[in-house]
Amino acid sequence: MGAAGNGELRVVMLGAPGCGKGTQAERLAAAYGIPAISTGEMLRAAVAAGSELGRKVQSVMAQGALVDDELMAEVVRERLAHGDAARGFLLDGYPRTAAQAGTLEEVIRDAGKSLDHVLYLDVPEDVLVERALGRGRADDTAAVVRERLRVYRDSTEPLVEHYRHRGLLRTVRGDQSVDAVAAELQRVIDGKGSGQAETVR
Ligand code: ADP
Repeated sequence: MGAAGNGELRVVMLGAPGCGKGTQAERLAAAYGIPAISTGEMLRAAVAAGSELGRKVQSVMAQGALVDDELMAEVVRERLAHGDAARGFLLDGYPRTAAQAGTLEEVIRDAGKSLDHVLYLDVPEDVLVERALGRGRADDTAAVVRERLRVYRDSTEPLVEHYRHRGLLRTVRGDQSVDAVAAELQRVIDGKGSGQAETVR
């Protein structure tokens, strides 16, 4: 299953808002028996519950901005320490900045483990905007969608190069059917494919 063949699997899902990484993380979680961990879902749940964390992040999220790295480090450290993530996880929505990538590397290294794959779902921008506006989430107005895409380009997209450099990046085209993307991602994880040729922007 994992790169080391030890039945463990640690994956980061990377891609723009609306690329489909949440959907695919859920599919892969079911297929490999490890949790899909969405930081966006965790934060939305905190807001809905009115917890201290929720109160801290509510306005930031509503603007399409990023929650600060230190607060996210706490959230992720705590979540990855849960027993259900001992044999692996699919992280969706983290890391989103270079500092977060550093934190994740530290957390995984401290556990004596390593990251197996960074699955990058590449989707053209016009498709992303169209999808985001169709979802009807509270933070999905046109202005906020554009802001989230801008934040993605500025803060998160550089992680593509970061992980390519480390030999962990596997690129799959996300503008295919959900089933086709899922099948391709599984081939990559199972070591039977390396993702399609990477597009140069
Ligand atoms: P999408 O699926 O559109 O990419 P998410 O559901 O992952 O969005 O996240 C929604 C919002 O939650 C983000 O716009 C941001 O405000 C906040 N958020 C989620 N993950 C992070 C993170 N790793 N760092 C900072 N903010 C985050």
